Amino acid sequence: MVVYSSAKCGHCGISWTSLNPNAPSQSFDKIGPPVIRCSTCLKDNKTKWKLPRDLNIIEKLINVKGKQVFGILFSLAIIIGGFYFGIGIYLETDGGLFEGLFFFCLGVIPGVIGLKNNLTVHTDLDYLERKFDKNGGFCWSNEIYSTI
Ligand SMILES: [Zn+2]
Repeated sequence: MVVYSSAKCGHCGISWTSLNPNAPSQSFDKIGPPVIRCSTCLKDNKTKWKLPRDLNIIEKLINVKGKQVFGILFSLAIIIGGFYFGIGIYLETDGGLFEGLFFFCLGVIPGVIGLKNNLTVHTDLDYLERKFDKNGGFCWSNEIYSTI
């Protein structure tokens, strides 16, 4: 096994440049598959990541709960901001419907997406552990990354 620091296979050197859209949406600071099997050369790469269940209580608080709570609050704040500025601009400007809608969408759309992502964190983390177990102790590189 080779420990790698950048996103590429330590055996055949193929680069994994972008995250697979099906991979969990949280950042890979600490959480991720501890072993990634290269889908090109079929060899295992050991990573610095841990599965969510292997985190200690402090790491869990910081990397799962803390981020989730922060993400939810942040999303709610920009949704409220979207309402506040959108409606405010609409009311204050004469016929400023377009401007009002623009600011409304600017806050509400990313806010709702952020809220959805943060509320489904556990589903995503379960997906990661399920894949890992189903494969027999690794994730395939193409389950986590795309090569393009
Ligand atoms: Zn490889």
